[in-house]
Formats: sequence, C-alpha cells, structure tokens
Amino acid sequence: MKRFNQEMIQKLEKKIDKVYCNACGREIKMNKYGYFDDYLTVEKRWSYGSRFDNQVHSFDLCQDCYNILIESLQVKPDIENEIK
Ligand SMILES: [Zn+2]
Repeated sequence: MKRFNQEMIQKLEKKIDKVYCNACGREIKMNKYGYFDDYLTVEKRWSYGSRFDNQVHSFDLCQDCYNILIESLQVKPDIENEIK
C-alpha cells in the first residue's frame, strides 16, 4: 500500500513538434504511427580551449543529407547490420 502526500508535482516535458534538416531545410515528416522518419541528431559540447571553446553545437540531418555527408567522407563510417 502506498500513501501519497498532497504535494502537487508538475513535470514539464518537451515534446518534439517538428524537426527540420539543418542541411536541406526540409521538414522531417512524422509517419502514420506518430514517429518521425529516422534522422541523425548530433550534439557536441566542444572542450574548453578547442576551436569552439566550450560551445554546444547541435543539428539534425535527414537520411538524404546524411547519405551525402557520408559519401563525401574520405574514410567511410563503420556500418553494421543488426541481426535479430
Ligand atoms: Zn536534408
């Protein structure tokens, strides 16, 4: 059995409303199940004394722009297929 006090706890949650690709500017659509089409999110806090000196950079890329990015890399990312 649990007893609860009468203190009201308010919880503020951020719900993602829209997502835009930082490279092409297109909106990343939500599918019929209520999930966004998959996209890449990058968030990086640069260290003190680095070129960006403690800044936090964040951006999102749609799948098309992610593909353009990885095609431009001299060394390709490691890619694994998860087997279920
Ligand atoms: Zn894009």
